[in-house]
Amino acid sequence: MRCRCPRCGEGKLFQGFLTVAPACPRCGLDYAGVDSGDGPAVFIIMIAGFIVVGLALWTEVSFEPPLWVHVLLWFPLILVLSLGLLRPFKAVLIALQYRHKVTQGFG
Ligand SMILES: [Zn+2]
Repeated sequence: MRCRCPRCGEGKLFQGFLTVAPACPRCGLDYAGVDSGDGPAVFIIMIAGFIVVGLALWTEVSFEPPLWVHVLLWFPLILVLSLGLLRPFKAVLIALQYRHKVTQGFG
């Protein structure tokens, strides 16, 4: 969850916002071939979708606000949730792949 190397837990996993570094700067673990694919996005769609839809329903039933209130409330929330969750989730999936020795990656 801290976006660190799955082997030593020290080196940074990411180079940019979502770009995986070529190798761990600390222990030299090769990140080449590591790819979490669409995995993180699926989790985030489910989690963020569940939270936002739940809150939107509750707001509608409780306050019956006009439509623009919904737009104003949920659009920023969706953005924050998606962007905030994407990085740690990608890191977790890569760590899981490492732990379970998924092929291709980590030679
Ligand atoms: Zn490392």
